[in-house]
Amino acid sequence: MQQKEKIINYFEILRKRNILSSSYLFIGKDYDVVFDIIKLISCKEAEGFCNKCWDCKQIDKTSHPDLFLIEPDKFNIKIDEVRQAIKFLSLKSFKLPRKILLIKQAQYFSPAAANAFLKTLEEAPKNSLIFICSSQLEALLPTIISRCRKIFLPFTDSDKELSQLNEIMDFLSGRDIFFKDRKKFAAFLWTFVMLLREQINSLLGFENNHLLKNRECEIILGRYTLSQIYKLSEDILKVYSASKSVNMNLALNLLKTRL
Ligand SMILES: [Zn+2]
Repeated sequence: MQQKEKIINYFEILRKRNILSSSYLFIGKDYDVVFDIIKLISCKEAEGFCNKCWDCKQIDKTSHPDLFLIEPDKFNIKIDEVRQAIKFLSLKSFKLPRKILLIKQAQYFSPAAANAFLKTLEEAPKNSLIFICSSQLEALLPTIISRCRKIFLPFTDSDKELSQLNEIMDFLSGRDIFFKDRKKFAAFLWTFVMLLREQINSLLGFENNHLLKNRECEIILGRYTLSQIYKLSEDILKVYSASKSVNMNLALNLLKTRL
């Protein structure tokens, strides 16, 4: 099963059992998947979603009255935008059982906007659903990250993280690696998390993405159990969300003790 289908299936089960959380953080850039999930949750015409009914069509056009979209304006999500969204969520829904707030590129929250949003995220109004998307976790407030269920979106062609793979292999083999550049450090951690996610998928019997097509990768990661990999990816994610301020090489040494 492809990662995309897996995510859709996951939400299908959540919807069926009526156990959706109030907020999700989608990590990546594949917004098509996110729109499919919104349709899946909203469409009343089909078991999955029909793509033909009024709700599906309006969602595709982002003109559904029960969907509010926040997108950064020149790399900035402003507090006014957030205030409107908060108001939107507090109103009764027009047609759908849940009002949906979709935030694209949440890494561009201004600090004031992020703080204004936190309270809503903590106590989301009933019958509302908050979808936050970001490809740069290190730029999000840790409190935002910790309050959402995290969903890893499939890779898109614009993901260029593959170049980090050799460094990760070196690291996993116990070789010393050093970073001076924070961007490279963050990219390294990010690819690392992606790689571990793929290994988790693979151990759970799902089809791999492209990172694990590397044989060396497969052998090195094969030494770890599922729970070790879960733990390691959580630890790396923590370092990643602090990668703007953390002492990079100290953090790497700490991670190394977890291998
Ligand atoms: Zn539909």
